[in-house]
Amino acid sequence: MKQPDHIIPRDQHTVSRKDISDSALKVLYRLNKAGYDAFLVGGGVRDILLGLNPKDFDITTNATPEQIRALFRNSRIIGRRFKLVHIMFGREVIEVATFRAHCDSNIQQAKDGMILRDNVYGTIEEDAERRDFTINALYYNVRDFSVHDYCNGLTDLRKRQLRMIGDPETRYKEDPVRMLRAVRLATKLGLTIEEKTLEPISRLAHLLEQIPAARLFEEYRKMFLAGKGEAMFEALQTHGLLSKLFPATEQLLAAHPDFESFIQAALENTDKRIASDNTVNPAFLIAVFLWQPLLERAHQLETKGHSYNDAFFKSMGLTLAEQSQFISIPKRYSLVIRDIWAQQIRLPQRHGKKVWSVLNHPRFRAAYDFLVLRAESDPSLREIADWWTKFQDADKAEQQAMLPKNRRRKVKRRRKPKNKD
Ligand code: ATP
Ligand code: MG
Repeated sequence: MKQPDHIIPRDQHTVSRKDISDSALKVLYRLNKAGYDAFLVGGGVRDILLGLNPKDFDITTNATPEQIRALFRNSRIIGRRFKLVHIMFGREVIEVATFRAHCDSNIQQAKDGMILRDNVYGTIEEDAERRDFTINALYYNVRDFSVHDYCNGLTDLRKRQLRMIGDPETRYKEDPVRMLRAVRLATKLGLTIEEKTLEPISRLAHLLEQIPAARLFEEYRKMFLAGKGEAMFEALQTHGLLSKLFPATEQLLAAHPDFESFIQAALENTDKRIASDNTVNPAFLIAVFLWQPLLERAHQLETKGHSYNDAFFKSMGLTLAEQSQFISIPKRYSLVIRDIWAQQIRLPQRHGKKVWSVLNHPRFRAAYDFLVLRAESDPSLREIADWWTKFQDADKAEQQAMLPKNRRRKVKRRRKPKNKD
């Protein structure tokens, strides 16, 4: 029997079970065994076809969330815009979604075309159509090892091009985050954005203003903590999206080439850390992006009569508050950002007890890294950065020798009580 054109048999594609995590396979098998259709979809299939290691596995099925939940004890239903089931296997989470319809009268749309709620189940064909890019709408069926391709995703993958399903402008209006996803996926995977998919982006960039700041924080993480931050920053600039995410940063770039090279150095450094499996805190790059805006505002406050320290600390709060209107920064990260910044004032003051409190500060390492990166584009900071590089690795005696004034004061103070005894 001849298969329909959109079904590609196992010998004509490169997806194989050995590339799929055991947990994802377990979920697929169990859903199949219970009589449901179940497919691996999205980034998982796309990345395997590109010869990459998927970062996570998404599954889609005709079982409802309640039916899925009933099959897996280790699962929970989560629901924001659309109900999903998370199945937990230790630290790995497999996300299972029910086929979703796209253009249904039940979809609530705002006047400008943005989808507000679309909790409507559909067929696999409908599910494919409501996905964003053709290469994200490939389905792997573990029952017969075939790949279902309803939107010509395989052709686009071969051409290494990112193409929106349907009319790009309409799809960006429905969900403006798709513009960020286009730029992110093209950068991450080294794909060209197809002409019609690319064209509306800079024109519609302003629609990102409607997106909740919390969602944009999640997108920020995906864009900058996936190992291609430097290219990402450049792509966002090119497509006019950076000004919608970090407006204060964007505004100052042209006038401050040293700020731009500081950002570049930080991004390069972050990418290297990720490549060698070092941890990266999402706060660090935000602290970098907002550094010049912080200084500018501090300077303005100073001219209004505030002391330098006062102006700097006031500016920290104002700069973070302003940025949070665009990308919300969870408290645990804004605290880190404040610490990194505050230490920039303390690091140059190398005398007295302050040196030890700076060195023992929980954020010393991040603050020091920040200083070193600043020094790369500001030669006047090199001496201080080098001093700290040497100081932190020196033994106690060497450290004391690096603090001549401090030592004299300490000796005096210590001797007094001893003499009294
Ligand atoms: P990665 O996980 O590597 O960042 P991904 O494409 O898997 O990339 P997810 O956020 O995991 O991204 O989404 C899984 C799939 O869900 C996508 O491949 C796509 O088919 C669909 N999808 C995600 N976000 C959207 C969106 N905003 N509009 C339409 N479809 C989307
Ligand atoms: Mg994914």
